[in-house]
Amino acid sequence: MSGYYSFGVKTDLHTAMIDITRKVQDIVKESGIENGICIVYIPHTTAAVTVNENADPDVVKDFMMEINKLVPLSDGYRHSEGNSAAHIKASMIGFSETLIVENGRLVLGTWQGIYFMEFDGPRIRKVYVKVLKG
Ligand code: ZN
Repeated sequence: MSGYYSFGVKTDLHTAMIDITRKVQDIVKESGIENGICIVYIPHTTAAVTVNENADPDVVKDFMMEINKLVPLSDGYRHSEGNSAAHIKASMIGFSETLIVENGRLVLGTWQGIYFMEFDGPRIRKVYVKVLKG
């Protein structure tokens, strides 16, 4: 196998924030690494990853409402593919997160979850995960 894990994410909407915490945790468990670092990487130019609250679903709605105001879907962009807003939002949020692994589990705050951010769906996406001992 390659030196990293990957899994698919299917998005049904144009923009979406999907909790992938469980899938990443399952990979950490599968890796057998008890203590180290987990890197979550998104190999796309119009999707991203972030860590945020996974308790109140309204946080996700508010997040999407505001980021769509910051970077409107159409604004006289030049990029011919028509998805400049998605490219910009993806870079604003970022393509990777680094998490601590302790005792075989991700170290996250009580209310934190890992979110896949879709900005140009619906699409079939990939998430790469690398777990390092240390
Ligand atoms: Zn494009």
